[in-house]
Amino acid sequence: MNIGLLGGGQLGRMMIQAAHQLGHTVTVLDPDPNGPAGQIADQVIVGAYDDPQALAQLAQSASVFTTEFENVPAASLRFLAAHGQTYPNADCVEKAQDRLVEKAFIQSAGVAVAAHAAIRSVDDLKTCAADLFPAILKTARLGYDGKGQAVVQNRDQAIEAFKSMGAVVCVLEKKLPLAKEISVIIARHADGSVAVFPVGENIHKGGILDTTTVPAQIDESLASTARDAASRIAQAMGYVGVLCVEFFVLADGSLVANEMAPRPHNSGHYSIEACQTSQFEQQVRICAGQALGSTDLKFPVRMTNLLGDLWFPNGEAAGQVEPDWAAMTQMPGSSLHLYGKAQARPGRKMGHLTQRLDV
Ligand code: ADP
Ligand code: MG
Repeated sequence: MNIGLLGGGQLGRMMIQAAHQLGHTVTVLDPDPNGPAGQIADQVIVGAYDDPQALAQLAQSASVFTTEFENVPAASLRFLAAHGQTYPNADCVEKAQDRLVEKAFIQSAGVAVAAHAAIRSVDDLKTCAADLFPAILKTARLGYDGKGQAVVQNRDQAIEAFKSMGAVVCVLEKKLPLAKEISVIIARHADGSVAVFPVGENIHKGGILDTTTVPAQIDESLASTARDAASRIAQAMGYVGVLCVEFFVLADGSLVANEMAPRPHNSGHYSIEACQTSQFEQQVRICAGQALGSTDLKFPVRMTNLLGDLWFPNGEAAGQVEPDWAAMTQMPGSSLHLYGKAQARPGRKMGHLTQRLDV
């Protein structure tokens, strides 16, 4: 079958690779015909995600639609929903696009979130609870990889940061003592069946995911609490598709949900080699109406992101140098993934390396 995909990045590329493995085709709508997904798509419609003509063309091309980009306009998914199934649907994607809506929803599903306050004006910062500080001020919308965030020690710093962010709607979140960061990826089928991936342990550097190690080095009871919490959130939303929920494990061992992503997630890339069925294959299976596969872990594994910084060993001014892939992949049990991005930039996700930890 043909699947309509909004978004042209690396998540889309890996989704297309899984679709091809199962004999399906994919039409991508993206402004860049040469992005990671566009390069290998069966058909590319070049246009903005809210371009009515491009959307109409996508609607004609398929009867099932998905997204690899969480900031795709909800209205576009609603338009596509009139022409077929969208997995996930617009309501779910919309919830994940606004940190305030997202936190309220997660709480309503019975899962704890960090203490926080909605910030719409300087006044909100003058009157919010004092015990939120030290805090992190985050724009409610459009933040990713630590962008649109500032650590603030007190009200004055928060007001300054709020102004420098353009006084857009923000959430002020208590800065928590993190013992670990973990994530749970869950695939939920239209028939209500669920497959939960093993818990991943994430290390971030400079606000960007650096490594995911699986299984996470946590108690089995905590792992099962996290998996249950992710299932509850997916169930409460009536979510259909692949969903990632990021959690903080606090110093006292308690669990707090941080945010969710309504799509396959960077912390699930290890599943391509290390799980019976990858997160991307689950998304394709859901789109194609095929039963979910097993998420069993075949071996312990670590995924490391390859950021553009690697291409500049002598600094950016000295120009881009291709890393030594032969050396990197000499280790047994390692698999290299490059996303086909011609231009490296510091902080840009260029690829990832997956390594078995048992060889
Ligand atoms: P992004 O959308 O950029 O991934 P996150 O909300 O996940 O934004 O924040 C990025 C990182 O910042 C988190 O992975 C975590 O390391 C740190 N962080 C975010 N919120 C908090 C918090 N309330 N307390 C402590 N650290 C936090
Ligand atoms: Mg995050």
